[in-house]
Amino acid sequence: MKKDLRFNSRTIHGGQHPDKAYGAVMPPIYQTSTYAQSSPGQHQGYEYSRSGNPTRHALEESLASIENGRFGLAFASGLAAMDAVVKLLKPGDEVLATNDLYGGSYRLFRKVFEPLGIRFRFLGMQDAEAVASAIGPETRLVWVETPTNPMMQVIDIAAVAESCRSRGVLLAVDNTFATPYLQRPLELGADIVMHSATKYLGGHSDVVAGGLVVKDKELADRLYFIQNASGAVCGPMDSFLVLRGIKTLHVRMQRHCENGRAVAEFLAGHPGVERVYWPGFPDHPNHDIAAKQMTGFGGMISFVPRGARFEDAVRIVENLRVFTLAESLGGVESLAGHPASMTHASIPKDEREKSGVTDSLIRLSVGIEDAADLTEDLERALAAMNRD
Ligand SMILES: *Cc1c(COP(=O)(O)O)cnc(C)c1O
Repeated sequence: MKKDLRFNSRTIHGGQHPDKAYGAVMPPIYQTSTYAQSSPGQHQGYEYSRSGNPTRHALEESLASIENGRFGLAFASGLAAMDAVVKLLKPGDEVLATNDLYGGSYRLFRKVFEPLGIRFRFLGMQDAEAVASAIGPETRLVWVETPTNPMMQVIDIAAVAESCRSRGVLLAVDNTFATPYLQRPLELGADIVMHSATKYLGGHSDVVAGGLVVKDKELADRLYFIQNASGAVCGPMDSFLVLRGIKTLHVRMQRHCENGRAVAEFLAGHPGVERVYWPGFPDHPNHDIAAKQMTGFGGMISFVPRGARFEDAVRIVENLRVFTLAESLGGVESLAGHPASMTHASIPKDEREKSGVTDSLIRLSVGIEDAADLTEDLERALAAMNRD
């Protein structure tokens, strides 16, 4: 791995080598399930594509490189990657998780693993002390998502890592929103970084994939065992698409941050908007931590229209034309979502509202179009709200 390169070069070269067969500069899509052996057990490093595939391996090395870890693992989706992490645990073990969590993560914990005997506690983690005092004798894993989705709270990874380390608890960070361009959790003391590569890493809304990166060899071996034993691996074509996305991650993220700021400031100055959640504002409650652990504030923004009525939020998202009303985030095109009825519908209403996900909240994934087209689109949609 080219350890000496800087981040903006690692996105392109990290873990990448010209192909051994013909010197192809791009990793070929090894669309194969199996590999010829010259004699039983004699092969060239690959036996069966669940256990290993050269295209997937190229992605796994790239992931490790951009997160500044040592070992990467690529999965069929972000949730498949998470699933592998929870399988490190056994019945009776406890997980502490951020309360404002991606809806699918919450569902995986509560509906799949809780019935199997793993215990979950959800808490606000902006106060790292609260995490430290919540860690109990059965706690084995702390699951952090930052910035949180969709409330854009920021959690101090280094402080939480400190509490975990001193108590022998694993810390996993879902780095999907920030990406390693903005924040590198392993450098801040986390043990595991998880990605939904479906979002910014892929970057073009054309693939579903996930990844894990770790520093520790023994942990990597345990996760590799689970990856192979459970089998939710990333396919060769999907690995190729994520790899291609990663090559432009740094230039896309730079523009996502610029456009994010333009849209956040536009919304904050608009009379039809009651609240804007974006960690780049100096009065955001976690702005100082964001400024310390992130190199930019990203393109994810949530806002509440004035009056905070469900119908107004629906009206606004229906009237957007440049933003597409769709689930997901992190692509080059701008998307708008209504968490209460879309991404977070699997979280019970009272739980949801406790963390601020009210029926009128709108979430934006600001893309890399011309920022003026985005603000004009929002202007038009906000005007539609007042038309009755
Ligand atoms: C999308 C997402 C996931 C789940 O990833 P999939 O690729 O959809 O399985 C997990 N965490 C966050 C923050 C996400 O945005």
